[in-house]
Amino acid sequence: MMKKCVIIGSGLGGLACGCILAKNGYEVTVLEQGAQIGGCLQCFRRGDALFETGMHYIGSAEPGQVLYTFLHYLGVDQKIQLSKLNPKGYDVISFKGQHYLMANGKEAFVETLAQQFPQSREELSRYYDLVKQVASSWAMHSLRKDVDLNVNAEYQMRSVNEVIDSLISDPTLREVLAGIVPLYAGEKDHTPFYVHALIADSYDQSASRIVGGSSVVADALADAIRERGGQVLVKRMACQIECDDKQATAVITSDGERYAADLVISAIHPAKTMQMVQSRLIRPAYRQRIIEGRNSTSAFTVYLKFRKDSVPYMDHNFYYYRGDSVWGCEQYDEALWPKFLLYMHFCQEANPVYATTGEILTYMTMDEVRQWEGTHVGRRGESYEAFKQKKAEAAIAALEEEMPGLSEKIEAYYTSTPLTYIDYTGVPEGALYGMMKDVDLLGSAGVTSRTRVPNLLLSGQSITLHGMMGVLAGSMVTCSEVLTMEEIISQLNQA
Ligand SMILES: Cc1cc2nc3c(=O)[nH]c(=O)nc-3n(C[C@H](O)[C@H](O)[C@H](O)COP(=O)(O)OP(=O)(O)OC[C@H]3O[C@@H](n4cnc5c(N)ncnc54)[C@H](O)[C@@H]3O)c2cc1C
Repeated sequence: MMKKCVIIGSGLGGLACGCILAKNGYEVTVLEQGAQIGGCLQCFRRGDALFETGMHYIGSAEPGQVLYTFLHYLGVDQKIQLSKLNPKGYDVISFKGQHYLMANGKEAFVETLAQQFPQSREELSRYYDLVKQVASSWAMHSLRKDVDLNVNAEYQMRSVNEVIDSLISDPTLREVLAGIVPLYAGEKDHTPFYVHALIADSYDQSASRIVGGSSVVADALADAIRERGGQVLVKRMACQIECDDKQATAVITSDGERYAADLVISAIHPAKTMQMVQSRLIRPAYRQRIIEGRNSTSAFTVYLKFRKDSVPYMDHNFYYYRGDSVWGCEQYDEALWPKFLLYMHFCQEANPVYATTGEILTYMTMDEVRQWEGTHVGRRGESYEAFKQKKAEAAIAALEEEMPGLSEKIEAYYTSTPLTYIDYTGVPEGALYGMMKDVDLLGSAGVTSRTRVPNLLLSGQSITLHGMMGVLAGSMVTCSEVLTMEEIISQLNQA
């Protein structure tokens, strides 16, 4: 008889695990609390305008690169169309009045930045090599078993800023290299360098948008599960992981249904998992540590619908820092908000000439919206609407500093706050990327996919890493607990 695997959460982590295990003979059921699958991969439409909510560009998705290998192995690569960002500058960092471009590949990366930092050419080269070396020390990033575990361990314990400062002498270049910090909601002295290295290396390989929005990926993964006899069920909120003395036996949903399981994978925030499982096998100290663990900060987003053919499509991402450091933007006074903006266009066709939609993303703490906690989408009241309008106007005005005249080209805009993320993904505090990775909380204090309940595994962005590449790599690690790492790497290489 096929073993039954019940997966909680249909975000990227839940769907990827479902797909891998369905390929390997499990009878998979994915339970999703919301009406739409995908978690952060969800898109929304307003008329003919399409908006991404939590996946704006992906790295290393070209043939031969690591994300491509994952997508190909999962059998979804053919269903995903990419639109490549500019290899000569896929990310543009605006810092203290200058624009700095991140280009793909070592030569272009070093030469482009060396034009503005001619004294730093050799340091840039060493930085680039270290990013590659640290990224390669992760088995699931290099798809090799014989990785350098010493490098791996060292850069889990050293912070992004400490490592960059040790390599780069120019203070402005240090800031510029850390300019992608919103991609991991990094915090000075806390975020481990490996997080920066894995993300920087992935985008260095290639950077692309997903044509038609990233919900395409969620749909393709769900189809792949169904094609192998599995099911993906929406409006099924898991509320209990039932256990006997030795293991998990079933998942119970809020409508009282019981889904018997030989294996349970919880691909939601680990704190929520801990609240659902009452087994004595879980030590109180472990449970407490996870429930009280720090989350990454949250975001405020303005979704822009442009007037027809008024805004040329931007084939790069634009990071605009308004202060004198890229660090610390998660702490702000209202008067100084927003301290940074990430501005991007969406891609509804492969080679757009004009952008139909764009997005301004910046940090927002949960405290700013705490007074409306517990209210529901569309029914939070006039004060909330006024708050969002004020914030949206401040964000658009800040962008105007760099893109004068843009606001005249906006036909309509929509907004989201930390409360929106809580409603649509269930993540506590609307945390952008789940639990914080912290140099002080690695090794024995980190959250791994294995739990004390032998057939209850964890997956999703809080475990290994967030993001398309990080969550897929983490899903492989989670599934390796039942299939072995050798088997997964061998299957990936054969694919
Ligand atoms: C604003 C934003 C921008 C981002 N941009 C990028 C980007 O450009 N590139 C990139 O690579 N990554 C990006 N990311 C990160 C990436 O989207 C996430 O790391 C990843 O999608 C998370 O997947 P997940 O499966 O861990 O969690 P989620 O996507 O949060 O999915 C969890 C799912 O579980 C469901 N759920 C929760 N509780 C229950 C329950 N009790 N029962 C049943 N279901 C439940 C939720 O409804 C949700 O569908 C971004 C994230 C955000 C928030």
